[in-house]
Amino acid sequence: MLGDFSLKGKVAMVTGGNGGIGKAIVRGFASMGCHIAIAARNQEKSEIAAEEIRRDFDVDAIPVKMDLLHEDKVAEAVKKIVSHFSRIDILVNNSGINIRKMPQDYSVEEWDAVLNTNLRGAFICCREVFPSMKATGRGKVINIGSMLSIFGGALLAAYGSSKGGILQFTKSLAVAWARYNIQVNAILPGYINTELTKMARVEITGLEQNVIARTPAGRWGEPEELANCAVFLASPASDFITGVGIPVDGGYSVQM
Ligand code: NDP
Repeated sequence: MLGDFSLKGKVAMVTGGNGGIGKAIVRGFASMGCHIAIAARNQEKSEIAAEEIRRDFDVDAIPVKMDLLHEDKVAEAVKKIVSHFSRIDILVNNSGINIRKMPQDYSVEEWDAVLNTNLRGAFICCREVFPSMKATGRGKVINIGSMLSIFGGALLAAYGSSKGGILQFTKSLAVAWARYNIQVNAILPGYINTELTKMARVEITGLEQNVIARTPAGRWGEPEELANCAVFLASPASDFITGVGIPVDGGYSVQM
């Protein structure tokens, strides 16, 4: 017997669900019957994404203004989502930023902005969502890592530290929360076509072609390809999988 891949009637909170990979994930979830809360700073962009979901799928979707850099705002956002939907079944920590610099050139403020958005922010979301998952007796947490969860890069000391950290955080959370029937996994995207990488492709000469040459699949990935993996990790079909980081990278991380 195959497991249950459906998300019908589930409630997902997706940080940064208003664009790029996050938007592909919320649409993937909605197409499987999941209700959606999009948590991000740009409320107008979130409202548009939520409206599109309500228009295209038979589910509810709400935008919730939230800045991961402010602990109280995260708590407030989670409270709003729980009061609207009565619970949160799935949390996707997708929001992320990057500042590319040589390590010696970072100011402490820049370092903190990257670490606090990508790692500390994910921790706060998990902590705030935990009571709801514990109360319902199940939950799924999906953290979005990166190839930088595995590799290093000269201009990526802050981003790499945050993404290495998120993978280790995933493992510890998986161990701690298995007893509550909460599975915690990470997705490690390879090079994906989004706003974030559009900028990198302008800033870094040759990146576009180098990625194609270095990736066994011979192309950049599309956000929807991350969504496929996220749907699986959010569904009961993955109930015996916890604490892992799954590369979705066209083979980038296994090529010598
Ligand atoms: P985008 O820049 O398109 O999206 C980033 C999202 O993060 C935005 O929706 C933004 O929303 C949100 N965000 C940023 N800062 C904050 C904050 N302080 N509080 C709340 N939300 C915030 O990037 P991608 O879609 O490309 O990336 C999504 C995730 O995937 C990131 O974690 C990234 O590191 C990871 N990733 C991406 C890869 C790629 O190739 N694209 C490769 C590997 C990993 P708003 O501005 O409204 O707050």
